[in-house]
Amino acid sequence: MSEPPRFDRGHTDDLMSFLAASPTPYHAVVNAAERLEKAGFRQVAETDAWDGSSGGKYVLRGGAIIAWYVPEGAPAHTPFRIVGAHTDSPNLRVKPRPDSGAHGWRQVAVEIYGGPLLNSWLDRDLGLAGRLSLRDGSTRLVNVDRPLLRVPQLAIHLDRSVNADGLKLDKQRHMQPVWGMGGDVRDGDLIAFLEETAGLPSGEVTGWDLMVHSVEPPAYLGRDRELVAGPRMDNLLSVHAGTAALTAAAGRGTGLSHIPVLAAFDHEENGSQSDTGADGPLLGGVLERSVFARGGSYEDRARAFAGTVCLSSDTGHAVHPNYAERHDPTHHPRIDGGPILKVNVNNRYATDGSGRAVFAAACEKADVPFQSFVSNNAMPCGTTIGPITAARHGIRTVDIGVAILSMHSARELCGANDPFLLANALVAFLEG
Ligand code: ZN
Repeated sequence: MSEPPRFDRGHTDDLMSFLAASPTPYHAVVNAAERLEKAGFRQVAETDAWDGSSGGKYVLRGGAIIAWYVPEGAPAHTPFRIVGAHTDSPNLRVKPRPDSGAHGWRQVAVEIYGGPLLNSWLDRDLGLAGRLSLRDGSTRLVNVDRPLLRVPQLAIHLDRSVNADGLKLDKQRHMQPVWGMGGDVRDGDLIAFLEETAGLPSGEVTGWDLMVHSVEPPAYLGRDRELVAGPRMDNLLSVHAGTAALTAAAGRGTGLSHIPVLAAFDHEENGSQSDTGADGPLLGGVLERSVFARGGSYEDRARAFAGTVCLSSDTGHAVHPNYAERHDPTHHPRIDGGPILKVNVNNRYATDGSGRAVFAAACEKADVPFQSFVSNNAMPCGTTIGPITAARHGIRTVDIGVAILSMHSARELCGANDPFLLANALVAFLEG
């Protein structure tokens, strides 16, 4: 018997607020933590000694969050059920000496983070947000969520062949945003502006991780408002659904035979190799400490890991009406057709047949339809944190997600129903 779905359009409304409030991974994990706190989860510090108490807990590290719920009396060898996702999205990030300019313009020097569709960043009203590191060793989040910057496109009159030949953008020369006029550019102007914005004394900021974002809020779109346009769906859509699913599963309390976990990592878009990325020890360390804190031995740790399953949730490609030939002819994932199972026999995705069965069971229990994605053989296949999680921790992993259009654009497009269909499937999975 399938249980009634728990999430509906209200979940999508909340996703839109989450996207708007999370211009950076640092903001995303704080907003996820805020939702977890409301559900009774408590932050634990990695530098403290951990106890074996039950209940919801989470670890925050930079742009990553690991949250889990220990049911009352769970033995140390209890396996985990993990929803994995990533918090970062391709964008433009501020360089160490940001203050630049030419011909009377003030500009901000930026690097390109990950693989954005560069054209999608042109002629947008852009804000600036991120993390400021202060003299006393603390950090402060900052978000200038108003039109502050713009990467202006060259007028067609000065680039007559652009529509016929395509737009060619040089990452160094053509992507530097302007943020006003004033020819006299001085080192330290941008950081001084941010100190002032954040109400900090001058000279207080000694380090920064800053990135630009579109200030246009997410919006329902379409004749019947059946679509959602917005930024960073890849992959905050999964982070948000995973957070909602974990709090719902935790609400079931002692009835769980697994420990449900949300693992949201930073740095997926550039290979996951960092202390907050999926290819680091963060997840394994947290899970192990949870086993040992409950009095477990290495044997208990091995038993728990052997029974653990991870659903790696990330966005995938819905079939595009103008480019349907880019897909495999018999696999055409549709917007609002339900979550997608992602398959690649060369392990760009971690799914195998037994993983499909795990996901199919969760969808059946949640009464959610699902679709399959596999690449056209002539197209290179993307990848996710799935194969990394499987290989690094020896954890059985299944790649799934939601089909969207315009992946890696500054403004992506998804269905209004898929986010809550995914959340319902994730709850069924986490409840085991
Ligand atoms: Zn992604």
